[in-house]
Amino acid sequence: MSELHAPSMALLQAAADDPVTYAQHWKTAHQRPVIGSFPMNFPVELAHAAGALPVIIQESRTPITEGRSLLAEFYCGYTRSIADQAAIGELDVFDAFVAADHCVQLLGAVDVIRYARPGKPVHFAQLTTAMDNASTRPRVENRMADLRAEVETVIGSPISDDELSASIVAFNRNRQLLREFYGLRRSGRVRITASEMQLLVKSSMVMDIDEHTTILRTILSELVVADAPGDVVRIHLSGHFCHAPRPEILDVIEESGALVVDDDLYTGYRYISTDVPEDGDPFAALSSWYLERNLNAPCPTRVTSEVDWDTYLLDSVAASHAAGVVVLMAKFCEPHMLYYPELRKALDEHGIPLLLIETEHEGIPLEKLRTQMETFIERIRRSAAPVAV
Ligand code: SF4
Repeated sequence: MSELHAPSMALLQAAADDPVTYAQHWKTAHQRPVIGSFPMNFPVELAHAAGALPVIIQESRTPITEGRSLLAEFYCGYTRSIADQAAIGELDVFDAFVAADHCVQLLGAVDVIRYARPGKPVHFAQLTTAMDNASTRPRVENRMADLRAEVETVIGSPISDDELSASIVAFNRNRQLLREFYGLRRSGRVRITASEMQLLVKSSMVMDIDEHTTILRTILSELVVADAPGDVVRIHLSGHFCHAPRPEILDVIEESGALVVDDDLYTGYRYISTDVPEDGDPFAALSSWYLERNLNAPCPTRVTSEVDWDTYLLDSVAASHAAGVVVLMAKFCEPHMLYYPELRKALDEHGIPLLLIETEHEGIPLEKLRTQMETFIERIRRSAAPVAV
């Protein structure tokens, strides 16, 4: 049974399940613009500082209809869903769209928005992917300046240093609270299911950040601290860029005898891993955030010479005492597919059991997944006693 404050979780669920309606209500109440952004690198603090509601656009559960003719079938489910939402007018609540790149499929989806909604401002900032070259920082700062100018144009007024500093503090506090939940889950003192953790993070991507922070504080103050659950296998969940895995997939994983104790999902730890520096020039701090994030949660779409995802994953598994890794991969997610062999090799070399689950926008057969997971858990149980915390 969930140990998280039910009325607060219900508020987060409503926003996470229907971000467009939430944005519409917010817009009516505040008479301010709503800016839609895409994973994984746009600094939402910029839109917030401009007085807009920043919303990271989510995959919709709606079956893809009109979008079918706008992007090929071999695009990932997230991008096909974005194309469909744009085509059927579900994204019309947004006053502008901003993307800080990482993936060619996402760029395709952004082009569909341009095509389907030609009246909407759409800005794309190409952020350098080689993170520690001498020339990278000035280039990133230039792109951040472009994003700032675009947001200021949409809003019709400049963003001050003080406004941006206040927004940075607001988002840092929110990320810090979410990381507290991660710490509690890792410690085993609080039972937070994988779908609950996802809800905590996903709702932070779409809600007014101050409202979200207030709700997080309520949940934390009502937390029931308890002994770690008994006969379970501790699991690290890895991967799944850009959009949240379906909650029913996360539930089946845990119903099969696993306890998710950590993750590097985008709608998870990857999103909240790094704060924006609060000292110095706040605009320069956004570039620092972009460059430092890859140190804290390496991404296969970026290159930093001293870090890589496989080493990070091995370290995370050791830190959380996970007995195995479940990789969730969105079908046709090219950056993930290309990097996966490296992860597999590293985990194999260290004797860490691994299960790959491919997800699709249209859903996957849950009973097949249940069988796969039960077999995986059984394999871990037979190969070694679950690691004691
Ligand atoms: S990184 Fe993967 S999930 Fe994200 S847009 Fe690209 S292909 Fe889709």
